[in-house]
Amino acid sequence: MITNAMTIDVEDYFQVQNLAAQVPRASWDGIAPRVEANTDRILAQFDRAGVQATFFTLGWIAQRHPALIRRIVAAGHELASHGWEHIRADAQTPGEFAADISRARATLEDIGGVPVSGYRAATFSIGARNQWAFDELVRAGYRYSSSVYPVRHDLYGMPDAPRTPFRPNGGALWELPMTTVRLAGQNFPCSGGGYFRLLPYAAFRRLLARLNDSEGQPGIFYTHPWEIDPGQPRVAGLPRLARFRHYVNLHRTAPRLDALLRDFAWDRMDRVFADLLVPAPAPAKTAVAGA
Ligand SMILES: [Zn+2]
Repeated sequence: MITNAMTIDVEDYFQVQNLAAQVPRASWDGIAPRVEANTDRILAQFDRAGVQATFFTLGWIAQRHPALIRRIVAAGHELASHGWEHIRADAQTPGEFAADISRARATLEDIGGVPVSGYRAATFSIGARNQWAFDELVRAGYRYSSSVYPVRHDLYGMPDAPRTPFRPNGGALWELPMTTVRLAGQNFPCSGGGYFRLLPYAAFRRLLARLNDSEGQPGIFYTHPWEIDPGQPRVAGLPRLARFRHYVNLHRTAPRLDALLRDFAWDRMDRVFADLLVPAPAPAKTAVAGA
């Protein structure tokens, strides 16, 4: 049985790109947070299932909820970075991006007390136009990224990207792309998020099983704490598509996640992809003259 990677993008309901026009960043500190209670519910689901996962966490969240970060680490999960405050990688200059990912990693490591080696860009915003982002991730100390979605979508996607792990720009970093399956000659998203709420569970399970069985590849699943929270306040003034994307079937996510945890084997990103992420061998020691 193939072990798949279970991941959570730790952000609050009002921080998603889809609501950005209605909820400006400057208003965030005035909104009652729900991320801590929702993440605790997910932690309890993982605990009952005996599953450890990777939590791609905003630095902004870690700074305001340090006890939550320590609970994630204490339960044996992998702490990873989702950047500082959910600004798209492709909306930043290389310098701004470098500062964002370094600040997030340092804050997470400081609060969590563990090394952070993984990164996921807000809204899968690394694509053909900003391949320089991978070089900045290497410079900031990351060992892998899970930021490319090889699909066509209005908000993200790099349809021509490899569907399996690859080393961008020939560098040391691994990109572990979001999961797709081939359907009718196209890449179809099979990684979770809104599609997990939209599709019937049996259909999603079939697609993931097909990836495991016929391609022999692990899948990468993701969801958000807000996706298990049907009681979250409704944001007013959303266009119809944004409203549908955010609110469809929120009540189904938690029970479906329980089913997914039961029907497949799961683990943290750094363990599922451990064969790729082994540290490069240390350079041979050379005698230093006069030492
Ligand atoms: Zn996000």
